[in-house]
Order: sequence, then C-alpha cells, then structure tokens
Amino acid sequence: MLDARHVSVPRFVREALDLAGAEWEERPDAILEALLPGEPDLRRATLEPEVAREEQGVELLGQGSRLFETLVDLARGRSPVARGWASPAPVPPPALSAGYRLGAGRLTRTEWVERRWTTWIFAFLVRHVGEFRRDTLHLVGVDGASLRLVRRFEEIVSSLPLADAGPEPEADRPVGECVRAARREIVRRSQVGFNAALAEAAQDLEKEARRIRSYYDGLIREMSEDMEALAPEDPRRAAILSRVQATRPERERSLAQAEERYRLSIEVEVVGALGIVYPRRVATVTLEDARGKAAVPVEAAWDPVFGQYEPLVCPGCRNPTYALELAGRSASCGCR
Ligand SMILES: [Zn+2]
Repeated sequence: MLDARHVSVPRFVREALDLAGAEWEERPDAILEALLPGEPDLRRATLEPEVAREEQGVELLGQGSRLFETLVDLARGRSPVARGWASPAPVPPPALSAGYRLGAGRLTRTEWVERRWTTWIFAFLVRHVGEFRRDTLHLVGVDGASLRLVRRFEEIVSSLPLADAGPEPEADRPVGECVRAARREIVRRSQVGFNAALAEAAQDLEKEARRIRSYYDGLIREMSEDMEALAPEDPRRAAILSRVQATRPERERSLAQAEERYRLSIEVEVVGALGIVYPRRVATVTLEDARGKAAVPVEAAWDPVFGQYEPLVCPGCRNPTYALELAGRSASCGCR
C-alpha cells in the first residue's frame, strides 16, 4: 500500500505505462522515455528536478505534470478486461501432508482431476480529491472460484507464458462478485493511507489557520494602534476604522478557503482487469474416525502455478484453513 501523502510516482508511472500499452525505457541518466499509444512523439520525463532544469524538453514527472495526467486519463479511459490462458506442466501434487495438517483416524482421497478457473487481477485507481489531489494505482488478485485474495499474482503472471484463447473456466463465480471482493480490499487498504492523509491535512490546516489568524490579527492591531495615535477628532480615524471593519470578513473568508483546500475525499475506480484461466488439481479428501462412524469430506486443490495447496474451507466457520481436526462427527479449524 502506498501511503496517500507519499505516493511513489515511479511505481505508479511504471504500472500506468504498462496498463496504457506504452513502449518505455528508464535510461541510466534518470530520463524516462515513453511512447504512448496514439502519440507520434517520444515523451521524455524525469524525477530529478536537476535533470529537468538542465535537459531541454525533459518534463519533471510528478502529480500535475502533463505525462502523469495523460497516464491517469489513459488508465481511466481504457477500462480493459483481458483474459489469458496458462498451461502449467501437469505434475502430480505432492503428499497432502506437504500442504495440510489433517487430524483424523483415517484419510481417504479421490483421484486428482483437473478443474479450470480464473484468477483475476484488478487494477484500481484510487483518487484522493482535494487541493492536494493524489492518484495511485493498486493491483489486487482474486481467486475466481473462492473469492479469496491472491497475493503477488501480478509478479507470477509476468513470468507465465500465456495463450490468447483456451477452454472456458468451469468453476468461476460471477465477475461482479470478484470485483466486489477486490474493491473491499482496496477500500480497506486505502483507508489506512487516507486516515493518515486526513490527520496530516488537519495538522497542515491548523498550521495554515494559525498563520492566517496571526497575519490578520497583526494587521488589525497595527491599524488600531495607528488610530489610537490620532487625535479623537482626526478625520483619518474614520478611514482606518472602515479598513479594520473590511479586514474582519476578509480574515474569516481566508480561514474558510483554507478549510476548503484541506478537505479530502476518496474515490475508487476499476481501471482494468486481467483474468488468467488455468487448471488446478482437485480431489475430495475425507476425514474419518478409526471406527468408520464419522466421515467429513472436504475439497482440496493444488495450484500448479503457485506450486502450493490452496486453503481448505472449514466446515465449521467457512473460513479458509490449512488445518482441520476431526472431533466427534464434525471437523473444524479449531473454531468449534
Ligand atoms: Zn473453522
């Protein structure tokens, strides 16, 4: 999660350039060259103010810079949904004990069968609205069958050979549900940064308000002193008095404007989705007691892309777990 007040521009730019379908390169001299889709000319930008000052035609990259805004617009406008198919080698899964801790008198397992579903990566644009507008791009992976969050899938995807077409997935939940699961995660993650931004904005506002008050109060004090120095019948007193009276609403207006500047809100928007369809190995594992009186079946899945077992669903609480214990006629993760 990127802190809302300290956005990592390079990371945002890298992700946005890729999302926008740009050709780009970071050169050793701190200049980023990017050819954006639909643009004839190479854009040159840098994060180093020094380089931007010295090099002709090199834009300083940051929020509010032209390239940055263009990337945000491109990312917003495209809303691309792409799908790819991966075919990992059909290696048999290792022993169940390599992934799970299953406590039962006896374990049986059906044959492993292939079942295909999608893992989604959603790209969200999180925008902090206010005087200090900030845009950050976030990626969230979601398992399309279980809706659980998948960490670091984007890193794995970049090393997977993908095909443009393949067999349709068999176990997918509706995409809308996957988007909602991803959005919940983004809102949760953004909240931390947003709260930090709110706290910082409140501090900055307090500082700014103090400055405004002391400026206007000083002004009014000076005028009052000038007035005191004049004889009671001096006609200049009236002029000063009317200036004092005009200054008071100006002070209030100035304070209200500062408050407006530091007001923040947050917007979350899906700007892209990539679904990777690939086969898992699935089997039903049954936890039985030694006397054959209790039998609890659960579904185990081996993910060949991650090279690991997926969590089981606890029959007691429906939460994902890697450990189940049979007790009496039911099995649970420890929740019972
Ligand atoms: Zn449980």
